[in-house]
Order: sequence, then C-alpha cells, then structure tokens
Amino acid sequence: MQRKSDDIHIKRMADLLRQGATLTDLACPVCSSPLFRLKDGTLWCGVDEKKVIIVKEVEDAEKGANPAMDKLEATLMAKVDSLQAKIEQTDNAEEIGKLTNALNEILNSLEKVKRMKKS
Ligand SMILES: [Zn+2]
Repeated sequence: MQRKSDDIHIKRMADLLRQGATLTDLACPVCSSPLFRLKDGTLWCGVDEKKVIIVKEVEDAEKGANPAMDKLEATLMAKVDSLQAKIEQTDNAEEIGKLTNALNEILNSLEKVKRMKKS
C-alpha cells in the first residue's frame, strides 16, 4: 500500500517539474516532503497537493548555516551509537543501568537540540 501511494507522489512531483516548478530545499511542515516553488513563487507540497506558507523561510536558511547546533547534534548522535554498542557488549546489570541512564540523558539533550533548531 505504501509503495502505491509513493508512486502517486512521485508522479505528482514529476508533473510539477514538467509544469516548470522547481524543487526547493525546504520541507513541508505537514509531511516533511520536499517543497516545490511554482512559477508564480508559491510554495507547493506535491504530496498534500496544497499551497504551503513558510513563515520562517529566511530564518530557516540562517539556521541551516548554524554549524554549532549541527555539530552538537552530530556529537550526541555519535555518543548514542557508542553507548548502544557498549550496552550490547555488556551483561552486567549495573553497567547496563548506568549506560541506559547515560543514553537517556543524551536522548533528552538531542530532543532539546532538535527543538531549538526547529523553533
Ligand atoms: Zn506536505
């Protein structure tokens, strides 16, 4: 079922491109698929088939150029990976408890970073 609807979306996107729309690097706030800019400048979601108004378009562009947050996010993601590997390797309950706690903290931080990037 999923595949069928994907095919429809791809077809719609292809149609938009044929009509002269351009693919932007912005994502739809509803379905997070890439947005198109129509000839008249309207941002359009090919999946939802509706006009999208991005209020913070300029801010988002600036945020994309904020390497501090991206770097922090990447660092935290790397920690999640290494903690997960450690949890896999140990059978010591106490150790697992500590690692899981640490993992929890990092995931919380990641959530915060993601929220800050979004807001
Ligand atoms: Zn959408």
